[in-house]
Amino acid sequence: MKKLFLIIGAPGSGKTTDASIIAEKNDNIVHYSTGDMLREEVASGSHLGKTIDSFIKRGALVPLKIIVDTIVSAINNAPVDNVLIDGYPRSVEQMTAFDELMSKEENIELASVIEVRVSEEVAKERILGRAADAKPGEERSDDSIEVFFDRMKIYTDPLAEIQTFYTDKNLLKVIDGARTLEEVVEDMETFVKSKI
Ligand code: AMP
Repeated sequence: MKKLFLIIGAPGSGKTTDASIIAEKNDNIVHYSTGDMLREEVASGSHLGKTIDSFIKRGALVPLKIIVDTIVSAINNAPVDNVLIDGYPRSVEQMTAFDELMSKEENIELASVIEVRVSEEVAKERILGRAADAKPGEERSDDSIEVFFDRMKIYTDPLAEIQTFYTDKNLLKVIDGARTLEEVVEDMETFVKSKI
């Protein structure tokens, strides 16, 4: 039985960094970031990658089928039983689609949805800092102030509905992401380990 933890958070919340540190420290935990998986597909130069790129550049969500296929294959191919996926769900449509999938799936249990919470101000400072610090060739096409506001709105619009849905299922765990990286990681790691 695979145990799945979905991690959501605004752009700049640190969710990918937090989850990757936890997976590095624990042999029985693996981590995938939806953004990283999609960027890998773009980097491969495939036809699918070109389609994905046209969405990422604008800060828009990639179509439902692409993202669902991406996470389902990541979960199925995960080499260990405890899987952290950050960046999903990002819309009510994605949440509902995944819930339907889970209701039919006997080998995967959704253990929790972890929300890494930061204010818009903190998110903006971190994203602009990341853009300024990026090495040449490693800049993200969506780390600009213009795209930041679009990404933030896309994150915020469905958030209340997503929070309510998982709170009702007793699955939502909110973590304060505005603290130091060490503090956030420790909190998230302790929580994840308590569920596995
Ligand atoms: P991130 O690295 O999490 O900030 O994601 C970067 C970009 O990848 C997003 O702005 C979207 O274009 C795309 N993306 C990531 N996760 C999803 C998702 N769950 N659904 C649709 N698009 C996504």
